[in-house]
Amino acid sequence: DESDGEAEEYLFKVVIIGDSAVGKTNLLSRYARSEFNLHSKATIGVEFQTQSMDIDGKEVKAQIWDTAGQERFRAVTSAYYRGAFGALLVYDISRRSTFDSVGRWLLELNTHSDTTVAKMLVGNKCDLDNIREVPVEEGKALAEAEGLFFMETSALDATNVKTAFDIVIREIYSNVS
Ligand code: GDP
Repeated sequence: DESDGEAEEYLFKVVIIGDSAVGKTNLLSRYARSEFNLHSKATIGVEFQTQSMDIDGKEVKAQIWDTAGQERFRAVTSAYYRGAFGALLVYDISRRSTFDSVGRWLLELNTHSDTTVAKMLVGNKCDLDNIREVPVEEGKALAEAEGLFFMETSALDATNVKTAFDIVIREIYSNVS
């Protein structure tokens, strides 16, 4: 109710999933802090960052969660997925095996979610085009077949990173408003 003069506020949880070393942590740090790290962190434990944006004059906050290495032990817990309204399913365009895992990640996500989740398939490391193992068309085709948004990104040179997160957050907003 806008007549009471209080600003409406939205807080959406978004999770980033995908195999180890596809660039999940760097996509988040690129988006939230404009930072990139060449060396993989060794930290274990769930972490999230909050990012605000304005949609239709309303403040929309996205709380974006990073597995922070849990997936190495195949132990991404249900708590990680709980309450998520959006997800980025990330693979590395230079490693075919990470693309082959997407189906399993999607299944796990669907198993743990009880609501409509805005999902984007993200082919990260598009700066490594010279050693590409997954053609763009294959990513697109999988996304189309599974009803996901699709984008190739580079956390290294920042290509499409903001766009990918923004599309997911806008889609969540339009799902709930
Ligand atoms: P995570 O395990 O999925 O969180 O992956 P990280 O974010 O830790 O990244 C794994 C490795 O890939 C690190 O050495 C990063 O520097 C590198 N990396 C991440 N994103 C990119 C990218 O877009 N391009 C390139 N060339 N390397 C990347």
